[in-house]
Amino acid sequence: MAPPIVLVLNAGSSSVKFAAYEAEGEGFAQAKWRGQVEGIPGDPALTVSEDGRRIVDGERLKASGVGDHASALKIALERLFELFGRERLLAAGHRVVHGGAVFDGPARIGAEVLAELDRLVPLAPLHQPHNIAGVRAVAEVAPELPQIACFDTSFHRTIPAVASTIALPRELRDKGLRRYGFHGISYSYIASLLPERLSEAERGRVVVAHLGNGASLCAMRDGRSVETTMGFSALDGLMMGTRCGSLDPGVLLYLLRDGYEAASLEELLYRRGGLLGLSGVSADMRAVLASDAPEARLAADQFVYRIVREVGALTSILGGLDALIFTAGIGERSAEIRARVCRGLEWLGVALDEEANEAAAERISSPGGKVATLVLPTDEERVIAEETLALVAAAREPAL
Ligand code: ADP
Repeated sequence: MAPPIVLVLNAGSSSVKFAAYEAEGEGFAQAKWRGQVEGIPGDPALTVSEDGRRIVDGERLKASGVGDHASALKIALERLFELFGRERLLAAGHRVVHGGAVFDGPARIGAEVLAELDRLVPLAPLHQPHNIAGVRAVAEVAPELPQIACFDTSFHRTIPAVASTIALPRELRDKGLRRYGFHGISYSYIASLLPERLSEAERGRVVVAHLGNGASLCAMRDGRSVETTMGFSALDGLMMGTRCGSLDPGVLLYLLRDGYEAASLEELLYRRGGLLGLSGVSADMRAVLASDAPEARLAADQFVYRIVREVGALTSILGGLDALIFTAGIGERSAEIRARVCRGLEWLGVALDEEANEAAAERISSPGGKVATLVLPTDEERVIAEETLALVAAAREPAL
């Protein structure tokens, strides 16, 4: 019999990415199918690969009369069912950006959990509604299918109150104003690798740098998050592709008095800052590094500067640094940014093996260095697939 399939969905503002894994015993091999629906709303197009080979290439879904998220996703799901057969689908796991102070791990989605996800929309208005739309679309096409939510915030629930509390009056804190942290699915994947990749002495005090379009750092003590650079929202902390990172709140007051309001401020802070806003060239680090324009140089310099500054801060929270891990698009692929960050951290005992770094080896620290420095590719979809399978399997076990 063909093995059961777990579908992973990551529904964003203009695209829905998916991966389908065939279960093998308790785990998974590589995702057999991957793909996305892009160009939502408006002109959605479906792309699917099977075993790394493209089998659907930008098929326009508009002819089928769809434009919005839910209907585009429904059509995409029906196409997927044609590929592997609806009856093989065991469960769907969703990336959900916000689990608030409620969810400290993945949750099976029923009416109550869905209501809770809705309640959290004001905390992540740009992302949460799309995640929820993904859940509802699956429920319409496959009402009986178990659905699991995996949260970007859960991994950070171990951050102590001294770090997560925002020093504002109680009535505001009671409304959910606190630091949550994000990229938690990626950090939990990296944390799961540490016992294999680092010796016991190397894995006590670790900083993980997730450097993608969004970027953050996580300080881990014994594999658990104790501090992170993102906070109440994904705007805080490091400089990113289109976000400037930590910002004096006085700037916001100035802009509000200068004619900005919530929507234009949101657009500025999420989409027009960071590498793009400063360089005037691109949000893509490759283009920024390739440019000779002075502002592009300044943008790359500031990207590195902010990481170095924040690793210093997290190291002081951890009381030292045993390992530094690079992950996500820039962390995995830019030897230049890794080298520049490591140079800025030499005072901490970080010593780069230049050759290993250029060759994108897993371990890029020189043997004499005091800080184990590694490049570990992240795999958020795998975490969601594994957590989904584990939760569905647990639900099937008879109660003791
Ligand atoms: P997301 O945060 O959207 O999941 P990724 O983790 O895939 O994104 O990171 C995407 C970013 O990685 C791109 O915007 C680009 O700036 C950067 N990137 C990818 N490859 C390279 C490279 N070879 N050198 C520098 N930056 C790269």
